[in-house]
Amino acid sequence: MPSSPPILLQNTMGHALQEFTSITPGVALVYTCGPTVYNYQHIGNFRAFIFADTLRRVLEYNGYRVRHVRNITDVGHLTEDTLGTGVDKMEAAARRENMTPEDIARHFTEIFHEDARLLNLLTPEVEPRATQFIPEMVSLVERLIDTGHAYIGANGDVYFEVATFPPYGALSNNSIEDLIAGARVEEYSSDKRSPADFAIWKSAAADKLMRYESPWGEGVPGWHLECSAMAMDILAETIDIHTGGEDHVFPHHEDEIAQSEGASGKTFANYWLHNAFLQGAGGVKMSKSLGNIFTLADLAERGIHPLTFRYFTYQAHYRTPQWFSWEALEAAQTGLYRLWEAAADLLQTSQPAVTIGDEAEEWRDSFQQTVNRDLDMPGAVAAIHTMLSSKLAADQKLALLADADRVLALDILVAAARLLDLRDGEQSLLDQRAAARAAKDWSRSDELRASLAAGGLDVKDTPTGQHWVRNDVLPSSRGEDAQDS
Ligand code: AMP
Ligand code: ZN
Repeated sequence: MPSSPPILLQNTMGHALQEFTSITPGVALVYTCGPTVYNYQHIGNFRAFIFADTLRRVLEYNGYRVRHVRNITDVGHLTEDTLGTGVDKMEAAARRENMTPEDIARHFTEIFHEDARLLNLLTPEVEPRATQFIPEMVSLVERLIDTGHAYIGANGDVYFEVATFPPYGALSNNSIEDLIAGARVEEYSSDKRSPADFAIWKSAAADKLMRYESPWGEGVPGWHLECSAMAMDILAETIDIHTGGEDHVFPHHEDEIAQSEGASGKTFANYWLHNAFLQGAGGVKMSKSLGNIFTLADLAERGIHPLTFRYFTYQAHYRTPQWFSWEALEAAQTGLYRLWEAAADLLQTSQPAVTIGDEAEEWRDSFQQTVNRDLDMPGAVAAIHTMLSSKLAADQKLALLADADRVLALDILVAAARLLDLRDGEQSLLDQRAAARAAKDWSRSDELRASLAAGGLDVKDTPTGQHWVRNDVLPSSRGEDAQDS
């Protein structure tokens, strides 16, 4: 039974560190707001998805079966989503690229999946595309109209009336009065009963590319409504955990709560978890609209391995803002390579133990307590480096690395094995070098070491004989000549 040690999660709802208990023992229902596939997902977006994936891995590490849903937003996300105005991001991209919105969605979904694979994000149990769930969204709108939470405006838009839902604002520490007082001019509309009301269905003007049948005429669902409908339809009316970036707290998640709870009369999500932003250069948030984004492909061009980015995100707690810089990424790459090379060194003389002893068990318990403490990944990585420099036996260390990698997802033993792969002729050169050393022929030994290094294999001498590590399988960070690019 997944009971000890407890998993503590910082709940945005109520701002408290709470012990996690699931609705159904042993099962966790987790919904993550997924990518809007109108463009590349940048590494800031991936900070959010790595955090959600790590949460899932920690729950699984603790024995939970995680039913993880992460959607694909392919309609309804507006360029000015905080104000509920602007144009549909998919539609804008389609017009710009002279493609259909469906082709845009397919193209960027494929790239997202490839990047997700490179980052070792586990495939969610269900990855619904919003456009596949239009009937469920229409019935949620109908339910909200029937329960008196929504009304139809003169122009065919349907609005959620926030005054009918008194808890509105609880997640984001807003009150309806303050929201009305602070409303921007764009939020006023003769069609709305209050500037704080938000559209859950938008009618489509004649020139719109994306449009779906509804009882209120052709239109598209609101972005917030989509996540409510998909989460409740696929998982349950009450789910365990909902995740997203901190920019989603308001309005996206506040509105999801109003819609879901307005319709069902039940708590929508028991735990709300939000990651802080990856900040671009100069401390400005990394965002597509500011044009200061980097993708995994940009990182690869500078010799940064995708898993270096995953490792880099572990250096800050997910609720702490993290600053992007090439120097920080290069330092992270050095740290990750050190980990892989240390594992390779251990694999040279040992294999992971099948059973771990008492001392290793203590390390394991402490690792589990660390990750269970609201995903303390900086602590978890530090603990792994400390464990590696301890006196624990090699087979125990390897077993702990394999175990920890279920959470870390850094391919530790796979990368280590790749670092040890010998190519044609290298074994023979190593044997010759061992013979030269036995005969105290140091110059021959050095010569062989140099030719092995030139072929991609670095050799060092240890009390247990020659140890080697490939120097040609890991991407190298930008070289001197790339410094100014
Ligand atoms: P989007 O594709 O815009 O819907 O965003 C996907 C996810 O990335 C959401 O959870 C956002 O909150 C999150 N996100 C966007 N920008 C950043 C950033 N710079 N750092 C961390 N998370 C972000
Ligand atoms: Zn969402």
